[in-house]
Amino acid sequence: MNHPVDVPFVDLRPMHSAMQAELDRAIQRVRDNSYFILGPEAKAFDEEFAHFHSCRHAIGTGNCLDSLQLVLRGKSLQPFDEVITTTHTFVATASSIMLAGAKPVLVDCQPDTLAIDPAQVQAAITPQTRGIIVVHLYGRVSPMETLLPIARKHGLFVIEDTAQAHGALWQGRRAGTLGDAGCFSFYPTKNLGALGDGGSVITNDDDLAERVRLLRNYGTLEKYEHAVVGLNSRLDDLQAAILRAKLTHLDQWSDARRQAARFYHEHLAGLVEIPALPRPDGDGTDHVYHLFVIRVPGRDHVRAELLRQGIRTEIHYPVPIHRQKAFASLGLPEGAFPVAEKAARELISLPFFVGITTDQQGRVVDALRQILR
Ligand SMILES: *Cc1c(COP(=O)(O)O)cnc(C)c1O
Repeated sequence: MNHPVDVPFVDLRPMHSAMQAELDRAIQRVRDNSYFILGPEAKAFDEEFAHFHSCRHAIGTGNCLDSLQLVLRGKSLQPFDEVITTTHTFVATASSIMLAGAKPVLVDCQPDTLAIDPAQVQAAITPQTRGIIVVHLYGRVSPMETLLPIARKHGLFVIEDTAQAHGALWQGRRAGTLGDAGCFSFYPTKNLGALGDGGSVITNDDDLAERVRLLRNYGTLEKYEHAVVGLNSRLDDLQAAILRAKLTHLDQWSDARRQAARFYHEHLAGLVEIPALPRPDGDGTDHVYHLFVIRVPGRDHVRAELLRQGIRTEIHYPVPIHRQKAFASLGLPEGAFPVAEKAARELISLPFFVGITTDQQGRVVDALRQILR
């Protein structure tokens, strides 16, 4: 099936070949200085990532699941504490709450943006609620103008799962700096991706930063002196060196993503529903298009037809968190969150990456036109 004319769902080779010399130099630097864990590259990347966000602290971690878990553990949650998040997200968002020893309280998403629904957040608040994890899904900043006042009013912390929204701007500020902490993934296909796993926590809270630093490294104060039981979850220097090179391109890549998104928007308007549009009142920079997602009735048929024409797609996500076996203990039946459940049946993520050609995008558009005619 994988003949050379397939349109891949994601292809990192155009991005990497355009910066091959920079990647080679980064790898060479780490090999030559031979510090691999918590060395100079990791330190420099933390500083540069914090600077990019105009924020006080960035702490490299092993991945985004750990970033979320480390922040939640930094908040010292008790077993009956509740953390509200959306059922329409990647599993890590909800898992982190369980792993930190608290109770996830799931809510439905907004029908148009598919972001966490602020009205449902408000309705889910109990005396046990400690915080909210907001997910900037698909690269679009969630409705923070409504969510932040709700959190402030009830004294709740706000964690941003920024795994899909590196560099997105909201009212002139970067996503990840809008609440108490931003949690990032550098999984290879993310907008800022390592050549392996990686993550970061960013925050302006000095105490929280200190706790996360401690917890990501076995709770180590001094060598062999451990203050708390922690994880081993550090961003290694090889990945940090690569990310330093890539960070200098991030805003340019976000522009490229917005431009590619514009092509799909122009050619697919009226043909399919496109959720997660940029804010109507903004300049579009609140959306960095990690994914380009459409909704169609008869989704499985449409995907199969696309595949028959060599066009590879994905679904983000086919099963909401509350319908996952891993979360059966929450006791949420089918029908509990109808907006997310309907979306899960209709979503398709189209081929989308930095360096996708208009020829490739044109093939996707033509195929959809023909299938949906
Ligand atoms: C990718 C992703 C994660 C998990 O990131 P890892 O680094 O793989 O742990 C978490 N949340 C969202 C929304 C993601 O897209």
